[in-house]
Amino acid sequence: MSDDPQSDPRQAFQELCRWSVETARWVSIGDVLGWDERTMMPAADGEHRAEQLTLLSGLIHRRWTDRRLGELLDHLETTALADDPHSDAGTAIRRLRRSRDRAVKKPPELVEELARTSVLGQQVWQQARRDNDFASFQPLLEKTVRLKREEAEAIGYDDQPYDALLDEYEPDARTAEITAVLADLRDRLVPLVSAIAESDRRPASEILRRRYPVDAQERFGRMVAAAIGFDFDRGRLDVTAHPFCSGMGPNDCRITTRYNERQPGSALFGIMHESGHGMYDQGLPTEFWGLPTGESISLGIHESQSRLWENAVGRSHAFWRHFFPQAQAAFPEALAGVAIDDFHFAINEVRPSLIRVEADEVTYNLHVMVRFELELALLNGDLPVAELPGAWNAKYREYLGIEPPDDADGVLQDVHWSSGAIGYFPTYSLGNLYAAHWMQAAKTDLGDLDEQFARGEFAPLLSWLRENVHRHGQRYSATELLAKVSGERLSSEPLITQLRHKFGPLYGF
Ligand code: ZN
Repeated sequence: MSDDPQSDPRQAFQELCRWSVETARWVSIGDVLGWDERTMMPAADGEHRAEQLTLLSGLIHRRWTDRRLGELLDHLETTALADDPHSDAGTAIRRLRRSRDRAVKKPPELVEELARTSVLGQQVWQQARRDNDFASFQPLLEKTVRLKREEAEAIGYDDQPYDALLDEYEPDARTAEITAVLADLRDRLVPLVSAIAESDRRPASEILRRRYPVDAQERFGRMVAAAIGFDFDRGRLDVTAHPFCSGMGPNDCRITTRYNERQPGSALFGIMHESGHGMYDQGLPTEFWGLPTGESISLGIHESQSRLWENAVGRSHAFWRHFFPQAQAAFPEALAGVAIDDFHFAINEVRPSLIRVEADEVTYNLHVMVRFELELALLNGDLPVAELPGAWNAKYREYLGIEPPDDADGVLQDVHWSSGAIGYFPTYSLGNLYAAHWMQAAKTDLGDLDEQFARGEFAPLLSWLRENVHRHGQRYSATELLAKVSGERLSSEPLITQLRHKFGPLYGF
Protein backbone atom coordinates (compact mmCIF):
# COMPACT_ATOMS: atom_id res chain seq x y z
CA MET A 1 0.00 0.00 0.00
CA SER A 2 1.40 3.36 -1.01
CA ASP A 3 1.50 6.21 1.46
CA ASP A 4 1.49 8.75 -1.33
CA PRO A 5 -2.05 9.36 -2.50
CA GLN A 6 -0.75 11.24 -5.53
CA SER A 7 0.71 8.08 -7.01
CA ASP A 8 -2.15 6.28 -8.65
CA PRO A 9 -5.80 7.35 -8.51
CA ARG A 10 -6.96 3.75 -8.69
CA GLN A 11 -4.84 2.83 -5.69
CA ALA A 12 -6.08 5.87 -3.79
CA PHE A 13 -9.65 4.92 -4.60
CA GLN A 14 -9.08 1.39 -3.30
CA GLU A 15 -7.72 2.83 -0.09
CA LEU A 16 -10.82 5.02 0.18
CA CYS A 17 -13.06 1.98 -0.32
CA ARG A 18 -11.18 0.02 2.35
CA TRP A 19 -11.59 2.97 4.71
CA SER A 20 -15.32 3.16 3.95
CA VAL A 21 -15.99 -0.57 4.46
CA GLU A 22 -13.98 -0.63 7.68
CA THR A 23 -15.88 2.38 9.00
CA ALA A 24 -19.16 0.67 8.11
CA ARG A 25 -18.01 -2.39 10.08
CA TRP A 26 -17.46 -0.22 13.15
CA VAL A 27 -20.91 1.33 12.65
CA SER A 28 -22.45 -2.13 12.31
CA ILE A 29 -20.88 -3.20 15.61
CA GLY A 30 -22.80 -0.32 17.17
CA ASP A 31 -25.94 -1.52 15.38
CA VAL A 32 -25.63 -4.94 17.01
CA LEU A 33 -25.18 -3.31 20.43
CA GLY A 34 -28.13 -1.01 19.75
CA TRP A 35 -30.40 -3.87 18.64
CA ASP A 36 -29.43 -5.87 21.72
CA GLU A 37 -30.09 -2.90 23.98
CA ARG A 38 -33.61 -2.51 22.61
CA THR A 39 -34.61 -6.19 22.55
CA MET A 40 -32.63 -8.37 24.95
CA MET A 41 -30.41 -6.43 27.36
CA PRO A 42 -31.38 -6.28 31.04
CA ALA A 43 -32.37 -2.65 31.63
CA ALA A 44 -30.01 -2.52 34.62
CA ASP A 45 -26.98 -2.50 32.29
CA GLY A 46 -28.13 0.66 30.51
CA GLU A 47 -25.32 2.88 31.74
CA HIS A 48 -22.60 0.43 30.69
CA ARG A 49 -24.15 0.04 27.23
CA ALA A 50 -24.29 3.84 26.87
CA GLU A 51 -20.55 3.96 27.70
CA GLN A 52 -19.83 1.28 25.09
CA LEU A 53 -21.76 3.17 22.44
CA THR A 54 -20.15 6.50 23.36
CA LEU A 55 -16.70 4.91 23.06
CA LEU A 56 -17.60 3.54 19.66
CA SER A 57 -19.07 6.78 18.34
CA GLY A 58 -15.93 8.64 19.44
CA LEU A 59 -13.82 6.15 17.53
CA ILE A 60 -16.01 6.50 14.42
CA HIS A 61 -15.96 10.30 14.66
CA ARG A 62 -12.13 10.22 14.78
CA ARG A 63 -12.10 8.13 11.61
CA TRP A 64 -14.24 10.73 9.83
CA THR A 65 -11.99 13.58 10.90
CA ASP A 66 -8.74 11.70 10.14
CA ARG A 67 -6.36 13.78 8.00
CA ARG A 68 -5.67 10.83 5.67
CA LEU A 69 -9.34 10.70 4.60
CA GLY A 70 -9.15 14.39 3.69
CA GLU A 71 -5.99 13.82 1.63
CA LEU A 72 -7.55 10.93 -0.27
CA LEU A 73 -10.70 12.90 -1.08
CA ASP A 74 -8.76 16.05 -2.03
CA HIS A 75 -6.67 14.01 -4.43
CA LEU A 76 -9.45 11.87 -5.90
CA GLU A 77 -11.63 14.91 -6.58
CA THR A 78 -9.00 16.16 -9.04
CA THR A 79 -8.91 12.87 -10.97
CA ALA A 80 -11.09 11.46 -13.76
CA LEU A 81 -12.63 9.05 -11.23
CA ALA A 82 -14.75 11.93 -9.92
CA ASP A 83 -15.91 13.10 -13.36
CA ASP A 84 -19.15 11.16 -13.50
CA PRO A 85 -20.97 11.85 -10.19
CA HIS A 86 -23.16 8.76 -10.68
CA SER A 87 -20.41 6.22 -11.40
CA ASP A 88 -19.34 3.84 -8.61
CA ALA A 89 -16.29 5.96 -7.86
CA GLY A 90 -18.02 9.30 -8.40
CA THR A 91 -20.84 8.32 -6.02
CA ALA A 92 -18.40 7.18 -3.34
CA ILE A 93 -16.22 10.30 -3.57
CA ARG A 94 -19.21 12.67 -3.55
CA ARG A 95 -21.06 11.06 -0.66
CA LEU A 96 -18.01 10.45 1.53
CA ARG A 97 -16.93 14.07 1.00
CA ARG A 98 -20.34 15.21 2.14
CA SER A 99 -20.18 13.22 5.38
CA ARG A 100 -16.55 14.13 5.97
CA ASP A 101 -17.36 17.86 5.65
CA ARG A 102 -20.22 17.58 8.13
CA ALA A 103 -17.90 15.79 10.58
CA VAL A 104 -14.97 18.21 10.42
CA LYS A 105 -17.05 21.37 10.44
CA LYS A 106 -18.53 20.60 13.87
CA PRO A 107 -16.19 21.66 16.69
CA PRO A 108 -15.45 18.66 18.97
CA GLU A 109 -16.69 20.58 22.04
CA LEU A 110 -20.05 21.12 20.31
CA VAL A 111 -20.30 17.44 19.34
CA GLU A 112 -19.64 16.44 22.94
CA GLU A 113 -22.05 19.01 24.38
CA LEU A 114 -24.78 17.86 21.96
CA ALA A 115 -24.23 14.20 22.88
CA ARG A 116 -24.40 14.97 26.61
CA THR A 117 -27.47 17.19 26.24
CA SER A 118 -29.18 14.50 24.18
CA VAL A 119 -28.73 11.80 26.84
CA LEU A 120 -29.78 14.16 29.63
CA GLY A 121 -32.58 15.62 27.50
CA GLN A 122 -34.15 12.21 26.96
CA GLN A 123 -34.03 11.40 30.66
CA VAL A 124 -35.58 14.72 31.65
CA TRP A 125 -38.18 14.44 28.90
CA GLN A 126 -39.24 10.96 30.05
CA GLN A 127 -39.83 12.23 33.57
CA ALA A 128 -41.54 15.41 32.34
CA ARG A 129 -43.88 13.32 30.20
CA ARG A 130 -44.73 11.07 33.14
CA ASP A 131 -45.38 14.11 35.33
CA ASN A 132 -47.16 16.04 32.57
CA ASP A 133 -44.80 18.90 33.37
CA PHE A 134 -43.49 20.81 30.36
CA ALA A 135 -41.85 23.48 32.54
CA SER A 136 -39.34 20.92 33.90
CA PHE A 137 -38.28 20.06 30.33
CA GLN A 138 -38.21 23.64 29.03
CA PRO A 139 -34.63 24.57 30.07
CA LEU A 140 -33.19 21.45 28.42
CA LEU A 141 -35.15 22.08 25.23
CA GLU A 142 -33.99 25.70 25.20
CA LYS A 143 -30.42 24.49 25.45
CA THR A 144 -30.96 21.89 22.70
CA VAL A 145 -32.39 24.48 20.32
CA ARG A 146 -29.47 26.79 21.03
CA LEU A 147 -26.93 24.03 20.40
CA LYS A 148 -28.68 22.92 17.20
CA ARG A 149 -28.57 26.53 15.97
CA GLU A 150 -24.82 26.55 16.68
CA GLU A 151 -24.51 23.25 14.83
CA ALA A 152 -26.33 24.66 11.81
CA GLU A 153 -24.04 27.71 11.80
CA ALA A 154 -20.95 25.49 12.04
CA ILE A 155 -22.06 23.25 9.17
CA GLY A 156 -23.20 26.18 7.04
CA TYR A 157 -26.12 26.64 4.65
CA ASP A 158 -27.12 28.67 1.61
CA ASP A 159 -30.60 29.74 2.55
CA GLN A 160 -31.64 29.04 6.16
CA PRO A 161 -30.26 27.24 9.24
CA TYR A 162 -32.86 24.44 9.06
CA ASP A 163 -31.29 23.35 5.74
CA ALA A 164 -28.12 22.30 7.56
CA LEU A 165 -30.06 20.08 10.00
CA LEU A 166 -32.49 18.65 7.43
CA ASP A 167 -29.50 17.68 5.31
CA GLU A 168 -28.39 15.12 7.88
CA TYR A 169 -31.57 13.08 7.41
CA GLU A 170 -32.58 14.03 3.87
CA PRO A 171 -29.41 14.86 1.93
CA ASP A 172 -29.81 17.60 -0.70
CA ALA A 173 -33.35 18.50 0.40
CA ARG A 174 -34.04 22.20 0.90
CA THR A 175 -36.35 23.71 3.50
CA ALA A 176 -37.99 26.13 1.06
CA GLU A 177 -38.89 23.33 -1.36
CA ILE A 178 -40.31 20.92 1.16
CA THR A 179 -42.14 23.74 2.95
CA ALA A 180 -44.01 24.45 -0.29
CA VAL A 181 -44.86 20.79 -0.97
CA LEU A 182 -45.87 20.04 2.62
CA ALA A 183 -47.97 23.23 2.91
CA ASP A 184 -49.78 22.22 -0.27
CA LEU A 185 -50.33 18.74 1.16
CA ARG A 186 -51.68 20.25 4.40
CA ASP A 187 -54.06 22.56 2.55
CA ARG A 188 -55.51 19.61 0.61
CA LEU A 189 -55.67 17.25 3.60
CA VAL A 190 -57.57 19.58 5.94
CA PRO A 191 -60.73 19.63 3.75
CA LEU A 192 -60.39 15.86 3.20
CA VAL A 193 -60.38 15.30 6.97
CA SER A 194 -63.42 17.61 7.31
CA ALA A 195 -65.30 15.73 4.58
CA ILE A 196 -64.65 12.47 6.42
CA ALA A 197 -65.64 13.99 9.78
CA GLU A 198 -68.95 15.17 8.28
CA SER A 199 -69.72 11.78 6.73
CA ASP A 200 -72.38 9.74 8.51
CA ARG A 201 -70.61 6.51 7.59
CA ARG A 202 -68.59 4.90 10.38
CA PRO A 203 -66.75 1.58 10.36
CA ALA A 204 -67.54 -1.14 12.89
CA SER A 205 -64.24 -0.52 14.63
CA GLU A 206 -65.28 -2.84 17.46
CA ILE A 207 -64.13 -5.71 15.18
CA LEU A 208 -60.55 -4.70 15.93
CA ARG A 209 -61.04 -4.57 19.69
CA ARG A 210 -61.92 -8.25 19.95
CA ARG A 211 -59.46 -10.84 21.25
CA TYR A 212 -56.62 -11.77 18.87
CA PRO A 213 -54.29 -14.22 20.66
CA VAL A 214 -50.70 -13.07 20.55
CA ASP A 215 -49.20 -16.36 19.33
CA ALA A 216 -51.64 -16.39 16.38
CA GLN A 217 -50.76 -12.74 15.66
CA GLU A 218 -47.10 -13.65 15.54
CA ARG A 219 -47.63 -16.61 13.19
CA PHE A 220 -49.86 -14.53 10.92
CA GLY A 221 -47.42 -11.59 10.90
CA ARG A 222 -44.48 -13.82 9.98
CA MET A 223 -46.48 -15.45 7.23
CA VAL A 224 -47.44 -12.06 5.74
CA ALA A 225 -43.88 -10.68 6.01
CA ALA A 226 -42.51 -13.71 4.16
CA ALA A 227 -45.30 -13.55 1.56
CA ILE A 228 -44.55 -9.93 0.64
CA GLY A 229 -40.84 -10.71 0.34
CA PHE A 230 -38.99 -10.18 3.64
CA ASP A 231 -36.16 -12.74 3.55
CA PHE A 232 -36.03 -14.57 6.88
CA ASP A 233 -32.84 -16.36 5.82
CA ARG A 234 -31.17 -12.93 5.96
CA GLY A 235 -33.24 -11.41 8.74
CA ARG A 236 -35.16 -11.84 12.00
CA LEU A 237 -38.32 -10.64 13.69
CA ASP A 238 -38.22 -9.94 17.44
CA VAL A 239 -40.23 -8.12 20.09
CA THR A 240 -39.49 -4.63 21.41
CA ALA A 241 -41.26 -1.72 23.09
CA HIS A 242 -40.66 0.79 20.27
CA PRO A 243 -40.48 -1.06 16.93
CA PHE A 244 -37.62 -0.39 14.52
CA CYS A 245 -35.64 -2.02 11.73
CA SER A 246 -31.88 -2.35 11.75
CA GLY A 247 -29.85 -3.43 8.73
CA MET A 248 -26.66 -4.39 10.56
CA GLY A 249 -24.83 -6.44 7.97
CA PRO A 250 -25.01 -7.42 4.30
CA ASN A 251 -27.07 -10.49 5.23
CA ASP A 252 -28.47 -9.49 8.60
CA CYS A 253 -31.53 -7.28 8.76
CA ARG A 254 -33.58 -7.27 11.97
CA ILE A 255 -37.15 -6.09 12.29
CA THR A 256 -39.10 -5.76 15.52
CA THR A 257 -42.69 -5.35 16.64
CA ARG A 258 -44.92 -5.39 19.72
CA TYR A 259 -48.11 -7.35 20.36
CA ASN A 260 -51.35 -6.35 22.03
CA GLU A 261 -54.15 -8.90 22.18
CA ARG A 262 -56.79 -6.20 21.66
CA GLN A 263 -54.98 -4.26 18.92
CA PRO A 264 -54.13 -6.71 16.12
CA GLY A 265 -53.41 -3.90 13.64
CA SER A 266 -50.58 -2.51 15.72
CA ALA A 267 -48.44 -5.65 15.27
CA LEU A 268 -49.50 -6.62 11.75
CA PHE A 269 -49.17 -3.20 10.11
CA GLY A 270 -46.09 -2.58 12.22
CA ILE A 271 -44.54 -5.78 10.84
CA MET A 272 -45.45 -4.77 7.28
CA HIS A 273 -43.99 -1.31 7.89
CA GLU A 274 -40.69 -2.65 9.25
CA SER A 275 -40.61 -5.34 6.53
CA GLY A 276 -40.76 -2.52 3.99
CA HIS A 277 -37.70 -0.95 5.61
CA GLY A 278 -36.10 -4.40 5.78
CA MET A 279 -36.75 -5.29 2.15
CA TYR A 280 -35.07 -2.03 1.13
CA ASP A 281 -31.99 -2.96 3.17
CA GLN A 282 -32.09 -6.50 1.77
CA GLY A 283 -32.36 -5.09 -1.75
CA LEU A 284 -29.22 -2.94 -1.52
CA PRO A 285 -26.36 -4.48 -3.53
CA THR A 286 -24.37 -6.65 -1.10
CA GLU A 287 -21.23 -6.39 -3.26
CA PHE A 288 -21.15 -2.69 -2.36
CA TRP A 289 -21.81 -3.17 1.37
CA GLY A 290 -20.07 -0.44 3.35
CA LEU A 291 -19.79 1.84 0.30
CA PRO A 292 -22.21 4.63 -0.62
CA THR A 293 -23.40 2.60 -3.64
CA GLY A 294 -24.57 -0.05 -1.15
CA GLU A 295 -26.33 2.26 1.29
CA SER A 296 -29.81 3.78 1.46
CA ILE A 297 -30.38 7.30 0.14
CA SER A 298 -32.22 9.08 2.93
CA LEU A 299 -34.75 8.65 5.71
CA GLY A 300 -37.51 9.88 3.39
CA ILE A 301 -36.73 7.24 0.77
CA HIS A 302 -36.44 4.58 3.51
CA GLU A 303 -39.82 5.61 4.88
CA SER A 304 -41.32 5.48 1.38
CA GLN A 305 -40.60 1.75 1.34
CA SER A 306 -42.17 1.09 4.73
CA ARG A 307 -45.25 3.21 4.08
CA LEU A 308 -45.80 1.67 0.67
CA TRP A 309 -46.02 -1.87 2.07
CA GLU A 310 -47.91 -0.85 5.20
CA ASN A 311 -50.55 1.38 3.61
CA ALA A 312 -50.71 1.11 -0.17
CA VAL A 313 -50.43 -2.70 0.01
CA GLY A 314 -51.39 -3.78 3.55
CA ARG A 315 -54.49 -1.61 3.91
CA SER A 316 -55.76 -2.21 0.37
CA HIS A 317 -58.94 -4.15 -0.34
CA ALA A 318 -57.09 -6.30 -2.89
CA PHE A 319 -54.53 -7.44 -0.31
CA TRP A 320 -57.31 -8.67 1.96
CA ARG A 321 -59.12 -10.45 -0.86
CA HIS A 322 -56.12 -12.77 -0.66
CA PHE A 323 -55.41 -12.76 3.08
CA PHE A 324 -58.82 -12.37 4.74
CA PRO A 325 -59.77 -16.07 4.54
CA GLN A 326 -56.42 -16.89 6.15
CA ALA A 327 -57.01 -14.25 8.81
CA GLN A 328 -60.41 -15.77 9.55
CA ALA A 329 -58.77 -19.18 9.95
CA ALA A 330 -56.06 -17.70 12.22
CA PHE A 331 -58.52 -15.72 14.39
CA PRO A 332 -61.79 -17.69 14.24
CA GLU A 333 -63.09 -16.23 17.51
CA ALA A 334 -62.72 -12.60 16.36
CA LEU A 335 -63.41 -12.82 12.65
CA ALA A 336 -65.94 -15.61 12.08
CA GLY A 337 -68.90 -14.14 10.22
CA VAL A 338 -67.21 -10.78 9.60
CA ALA A 339 -67.55 -9.49 6.03
CA ILE A 340 -64.33 -8.50 4.25
CA ASP A 341 -65.76 -5.04 3.44
CA ASP A 342 -66.45 -4.36 7.12
CA PHE A 343 -62.96 -5.51 8.08
CA HIS A 344 -61.40 -3.38 5.35
CA PHE A 345 -63.34 -0.30 6.48
CA ALA A 346 -62.33 -0.95 10.11
CA ILE A 347 -58.59 -1.07 9.33
CA ASN A 348 -59.00 2.18 7.37
CA GLU A 349 -60.89 4.18 9.95
CA VAL A 350 -60.02 7.89 9.81
CA ARG A 351 -60.37 9.73 13.10
CA PRO A 352 -58.49 12.84 14.21
CA SER A 353 -56.54 11.79 17.28
CA LEU A 354 -53.88 13.22 19.57
CA ILE A 355 -51.05 10.73 19.12
CA ARG A 356 -48.96 10.70 15.93
CA VAL A 357 -47.80 7.08 16.08
CA GLU A 358 -51.40 5.86 16.30
CA ALA A 359 -52.70 8.15 13.55
CA ASP A 360 -54.42 6.87 10.40
CA GLU A 361 -53.19 7.28 6.84
CA VAL A 362 -55.12 10.52 6.18
CA THR A 363 -54.47 12.49 9.37
CA TYR A 364 -50.87 11.28 9.88
CA ASN A 365 -49.29 13.97 7.74
CA LEU A 366 -51.10 16.72 9.66
CA HIS A 367 -49.42 15.49 12.85
CA VAL A 368 -46.09 15.76 11.03
CA MET A 369 -46.95 19.22 9.71
CA VAL A 370 -47.55 20.54 13.24
CA ARG A 371 -44.09 19.36 14.30
CA PHE A 372 -42.31 20.57 11.17
CA GLU A 373 -43.77 24.07 11.38
CA LEU A 374 -43.03 24.35 15.09
CA GLU A 375 -39.43 23.10 14.97
CA LEU A 376 -38.73 25.43 12.07
CA ALA A 377 -40.08 28.35 14.11
CA LEU A 378 -38.06 27.26 17.17
CA LEU A 379 -34.83 27.09 15.22
CA ASN A 380 -35.41 30.40 13.45
CA GLY A 381 -36.14 32.06 16.79
CA ASP A 382 -39.70 32.92 15.75
CA LEU A 383 -41.13 30.86 18.59
CA PRO A 384 -39.74 30.93 22.17
CA VAL A 385 -39.68 27.46 23.77
CA ALA A 386 -41.90 28.78 26.58
CA GLU A 387 -44.71 29.35 24.06
CA LEU A 388 -44.37 25.93 22.43
CA PRO A 389 -47.23 24.12 24.27
CA GLY A 390 -49.72 26.86 23.38
CA ALA A 391 -48.59 26.90 19.75
CA TRP A 392 -48.85 23.10 19.61
CA ASN A 393 -52.41 23.09 20.90
CA ALA A 394 -53.45 25.87 18.54
CA LYS A 395 -52.18 23.94 15.51
CA TYR A 396 -53.96 20.74 16.58
CA ARG A 397 -57.17 22.75 16.82
CA GLU A 398 -56.61 24.29 13.41
CA TYR A 399 -55.51 21.21 11.44
CA LEU A 400 -57.22 18.33 13.25
CA GLY A 401 -60.11 20.02 15.04
CA ILE A 402 -59.08 18.63 18.45
CA GLU A 403 -57.01 19.87 21.36
CA PRO A 404 -54.82 17.85 23.74
CA PRO A 405 -56.17 17.86 27.31
CA ASP A 406 -52.60 17.97 28.63
CA ASP A 407 -48.97 18.26 27.46
CA ALA A 408 -48.19 14.56 28.06
CA ASP A 409 -50.49 13.67 25.16
CA GLY A 410 -49.54 16.87 23.37
CA VAL A 411 -46.19 18.55 22.98
CA LEU A 412 -44.38 15.98 25.17
CA GLN A 413 -45.37 12.86 23.20
CA ASP A 414 -42.32 12.41 20.92
CA VAL A 415 -38.73 11.63 21.85
CA HIS A 416 -37.22 13.51 18.85
CA TRP A 417 -36.67 17.03 20.19
CA SER A 418 -35.34 15.78 23.54
CA SER A 419 -32.63 13.84 21.70
CA GLY A 420 -31.68 16.76 19.46
CA ALA A 421 -33.34 15.31 16.34
CA ILE A 422 -34.53 18.58 14.79
CA GLY A 423 -35.05 18.29 11.04
CA TYR A 424 -36.19 14.65 11.25
CA PHE A 425 -39.99 14.97 11.30
CA PRO A 426 -40.56 16.04 7.68
CA THR A 427 -38.92 12.80 6.45
CA TYR A 428 -42.03 10.90 7.63
CA SER A 429 -44.24 12.89 5.27
CA LEU A 430 -41.66 12.83 2.50
CA GLY A 431 -41.85 9.04 2.81
CA ASN A 432 -45.62 9.10 2.26
CA LEU A 433 -45.25 11.40 -0.73
CA TYR A 434 -42.49 9.31 -2.34
CA ALA A 435 -44.48 6.11 -1.71
CA ALA A 436 -47.42 7.55 -3.65
CA HIS A 437 -45.11 8.50 -6.54
CA TRP A 438 -43.68 4.95 -6.59
CA MET A 439 -47.14 3.37 -6.59
CA GLN A 440 -48.25 5.57 -9.46
CA ALA A 441 -45.15 4.73 -11.52
CA ALA A 442 -45.33 1.01 -10.66
CA LYS A 443 -48.94 0.84 -11.82
CA THR A 444 -47.96 2.41 -15.13
CA ASP A 445 -45.25 -0.22 -15.60
CA LEU A 446 -46.92 -3.29 -14.10
CA GLY A 447 -50.59 -2.85 -14.91
CA ASP A 448 -53.32 -3.80 -12.46
CA LEU A 449 -51.51 -4.28 -9.16
CA ASP A 450 -54.80 -4.95 -7.35
CA GLU A 451 -55.35 -8.07 -9.44
CA GLN A 452 -51.85 -9.25 -8.50
CA PHE A 453 -52.34 -8.54 -4.79
CA ALA A 454 -55.68 -10.37 -4.82
CA ARG A 455 -53.85 -13.43 -6.20
CA GLY A 456 -51.21 -13.11 -3.47
CA GLU A 457 -48.55 -11.99 -5.95
CA PHE A 458 -46.20 -9.39 -4.50
CA ALA A 459 -43.00 -10.36 -6.29
CA PRO A 460 -43.66 -8.14 -9.34
CA LEU A 461 -43.98 -5.02 -7.15
CA LEU A 462 -40.94 -5.96 -5.06
CA SER A 463 -38.88 -6.63 -8.21
CA TRP A 464 -39.95 -3.25 -9.54
CA LEU A 465 -38.78 -1.55 -6.34
CA ARG A 466 -35.51 -3.52 -6.39
CA GLU A 467 -34.89 -2.44 -9.99
CA ASN A 468 -35.97 1.19 -9.67
CA VAL A 469 -35.03 2.12 -6.11
CA HIS A 470 -33.04 -0.41 -4.08
CA ARG A 471 -30.22 -1.41 -6.41
CA HIS A 472 -28.99 2.16 -6.93
CA GLY A 473 -27.84 2.68 -3.34
CA GLN A 474 -26.85 6.35 -3.04
CA ARG A 475 -26.02 6.73 -6.73
CA TYR A 476 -28.80 9.33 -7.09
CA SER A 477 -30.25 11.87 -4.69
CA ALA A 478 -33.91 11.41 -3.77
CA THR A 479 -34.91 14.15 -6.20
CA GLU A 480 -32.81 12.68 -9.01
CA LEU A 481 -34.18 9.21 -8.41
CA LEU A 482 -37.77 10.44 -8.49
CA ALA A 483 -37.14 12.26 -11.77
CA LYS A 484 -35.45 9.19 -13.23
CA VAL A 485 -38.24 6.80 -12.23
CA SER A 486 -41.31 8.96 -12.80
CA GLY A 487 -40.15 12.03 -14.72
CA GLU A 488 -41.71 14.11 -11.96
CA ARG A 489 -40.81 16.48 -9.17
CA LEU A 490 -42.01 15.82 -5.63
CA SER A 491 -45.68 16.73 -5.38
CA SER A 492 -48.70 16.05 -3.18
CA GLU A 493 -50.79 15.13 -6.22
CA PRO A 494 -50.24 11.33 -6.33
CA LEU A 495 -50.86 10.95 -2.58
CA ILE A 496 -54.00 13.09 -2.56
CA THR A 497 -55.32 11.24 -5.63
CA GLN A 498 -54.69 7.86 -4.01
CA LEU A 499 -56.27 8.93 -0.71
CA ARG A 500 -59.39 10.27 -2.45
CA HIS A 501 -59.64 7.12 -4.54
CA LYS A 502 -59.52 4.94 -1.44
CA PHE A 503 -61.41 6.96 1.18
CA GLY A 504 -64.05 8.51 -1.13
CA PRO A 505 -65.92 5.21 -1.59
CA LEU A 506 -65.52 4.30 2.12
CA TYR A 507 -66.87 7.58 3.45
CA GLY A 508 -69.16 8.45 0.53
CA PHE A 509 -67.74 11.61 -1.01
ZN1 ZN B 1 -40.51 3.79 9.40
